[in-house]
Amino acid sequence: MTRILVTGGAGFIGSAVVRQLLAETDAFVVNVDKLTYAANLSSLPGAEGNPRYAFEKVDICDAAELRRVFDTHQPDAVMHLAAESHVDRSIDGPGEFIQTNVVGTFRLLEAARGYWSALPAERRQAFRFHHISTDEVFGTLGDDGFFTETTAYSPNSPYSASKASSDHLVRAWHETYGLPVVLTNCSNNYGPYHFPEKLIPLMILKGLAGEKLPVYGKGDNIRDWLYVEDHARALRLVLEKGRIGESYNIGGHNERTNLEVVRAICAHLDEMNPAGAPHDRLISFVTDRPGHDKRYAIDAGKIERELGWTPQETFESGLRKTVAWYLENRDWWQAILNGSYQGERLGLTEEG
Ligand code: NAD
Repeated sequence: MTRILVTGGAGFIGSAVVRQLLAETDAFVVNVDKLTYAANLSSLPGAEGNPRYAFEKVDICDAAELRRVFDTHQPDAVMHLAAESHVDRSIDGPGEFIQTNVVGTFRLLEAARGYWSALPAERRQAFRFHHISTDEVFGTLGDDGFFTETTAYSPNSPYSASKASSDHLVRAWHETYGLPVVLTNCSNNYGPYHFPEKLIPLMILKGLAGEKLPVYGKGDNIRDWLYVEDHARALRLVLEKGRIGESYNIGGHNERTNLEVVRAICAHLDEMNPAGAPHDRLISFVTDRPGHDKRYAIDAGKIERELGWTPQETFESGLRKTVAWYLENRDWWQAILNGSYQGERLGLTEEG
């Protein structure tokens, strides 16, 4: 049985990875998560009590705790998703982003290296450190072109700069120490269990509440959207079959302006929540975010060609599923909004 240590497994994408690993493989999963405001163990229904699951409430900046976790659980692979991930929060307070994304990744690499170098030869060869990152490290695109694996790094926000730093550290630990790493850079994710400060869940919940739908600038910034379960599947494939030392871009060829995304959400809400229709009357334009990247778009040709990955959802089918999920799982997000979860009350006032 493979033993996989997942960092950030109580977050949005990490929880999708853990749910898939438990449901679709026979792997033993160790979820290492500090449980920040963005974490939610109720995104892992059925995990607690599963004999193939262990949870460790650990900060990845804590070197001694990481050593203990590696020694205790003896993983065959690490999937590193723990991060501070919200661009707006990184602009307001970059310190946590440097701490977790840069220092935390360094500590995790060091713990993994110490553990890996002491493994017997066969297990050392099979070990993988998979670093999960974002396309935002590449900066912004003009009207055309795509990010490829060889696009030069050019991060513009404290968030993307901290993720770029962590990518470089991971690459260096491979080149310098031979740690068997794989890296992935993915476009914007959306789907169930997404914390309601990010664009898509924020707009769904505000639309349901009949509140204004704040859209940055003219709403013409373009993002390339991928359904989170498709991302999780791609990650598992790269972990299993990706070439050591290589990076793979992951994206769904779903470029949409923010305004198109919000209008599409409104159309689904009109159908599923007719009492509030028409929801697009709620759209309101607000001052753009500083350093707001104009366009992201991923060329996912390498992972498609080398590993045979393609997304299962189109943007239309994935968005429909997502809106329906938020309508059917009110308990999950109401606990976040009304403060019964982690003591933090999140008013629906932030802009995603
Ligand atoms: P998230 O904010 O939903 O979850 C992050 C998780 O990491 C949380 O559970 C949090 O408690 C945990 N965490 C934070 N700091 C920690 C620390 N110091 N020690 C231990 N755990 C800590 O993030 P997400 O959207 O699930 O993103 C996961 C990863 O994927 C991140 O590395 C992010 O950069 C990357 N990524 C995200 C997207 C996206 O669209 N969300 C796209 C591409 C890549």
